[in-house]
Amino acid sequence: MENALLEDLAAVYRDLHAHPELSFAETRTAGIVAERLRALGFAVTEQVGRTGVVGVLQRGTGATVLLRADMDALPVAEQTGLPYASTVTALRDGKDVPVMHACGHDMHVTALLGALTTLATQDDWSGRIIAVFQPAEEQGAGARAMVDDGLYDRFGTPDVVLGQHVAPLPAGAIGLRPGASFAASDALRITLYGRGGHGSRPEATIDPVVLAASVVLRLQTIVSREIPGTETAVLTIGSIHAGDAANIIPDSAELQVSIRTFDTAVRRRVLDAVERIVRGEAITAGADREPLIEAMHSFPAVVNDPAAVERVRGALASDLAGVMVVDPGVVTGSEDVGILAAEAGAPCVYWLLGGADPAEFAGRTTVAELAARVIELPSNHSPLYAPVIMPTLAVGVRALTAAARNWLTV
Ligand code: ZN
Ligand code: ZN
Repeated sequence: MENALLEDLAAVYRDLHAHPELSFAETRTAGIVAERLRALGFAVTEQVGRTGVVGVLQRGTGATVLLRADMDALPVAEQTGLPYASTVTALRDGKDVPVMHACGHDMHVTALLGALTTLATQDDWSGRIIAVFQPAEEQGAGARAMVDDGLYDRFGTPDVVLGQHVAPLPAGAIGLRPGASFAASDALRITLYGRGGHGSRPEATIDPVVLAASVVLRLQTIVSREIPGTETAVLTIGSIHAGDAANIIPDSAELQVSIRTFDTAVRRRVLDAVERIVRGEAITAGADREPLIEAMHSFPAVVNDPAAVERVRGALASDLAGVMVVDPGVVTGSEDVGILAAEAGAPCVYWLLGGADPAEFAGRTTVAELAARVIELPSNHSPLYAPVIMPTLAVGVRALTAAARNWLTV
């Protein structure tokens, strides 16, 4: 890859990083993407699934390859101190919140632009590229929105779905595994109803704060007491809200619960246990109104197709000599790219792109030593998370290009 392209891409990355946009508000990013794709000769359609962009490049006959990057940022106040750090704020639910590319989706967008630029200038391939710049991955809603907006009816159904996520592995390394790779994610909003009143007269109330406290503790027993030691599940209560004053017992309490699983039977068991415990604790508290359990989002596990993984592994081995490919194990993070593959009935290959400064791993050579260091470094969604631009970007461009060409080469 020429240096001029890499320098241009690094400038795009720094610009996107300094101008992050929240889910379904990625209009500036989408505009930049659309303009670049048009200049490369792609047929471009904007506003697919609200703020998504689709670019299609057809050359003769052959396989159809979908290359996917997500575009959205998070309500996080950046603390990286980088010269291109975000100072952006935006409105979310009526509140002004800081915005940061804390999950690295700016790297995904830039690397995909680089791969498309490379592919557009090569003439030794045949087939169809569908470039998908997806909104709102963080809400688990963007892939669904694009599919529901006719992604495959309008642009064709792919033979394979390819993508990558930047992670705190050493930059220059790639994490790739067949089978279950990212967890299924379910987010629930639980409203517990009590009976409010004066803080001095608890006997006249049903206190939803005490009820919520007991639900929080009891939910912790699902993973520890109900899921076999050979299986994996995570249950986190990331939000709890009730009341505004010390001397008022509120009417209700709200919890938000995040659940990660890899197996559909385990997922069902956890969800059933949550419902049983929440209803049971409400009865125990004497609540006269049933609790409300609402699904905020639900997306399936990302399962990498073993045969397609081997094709990508072969492409990386021949085109990215020197790049270390490791099995990162299953990731408890979640990704809605699995919806794009499932809805197309196509195999999916989704890999981790190392983005951590290799200097952070100095003196560590074994996989165990590297893994121990990875968990000490700022991770995705941290206000301190930012990949090093190089070699992360160069490897991301080359990996996507090599993987796509495996299906497109005549
Ligand atoms: Zn994320
Ligand atoms: Zn992400």
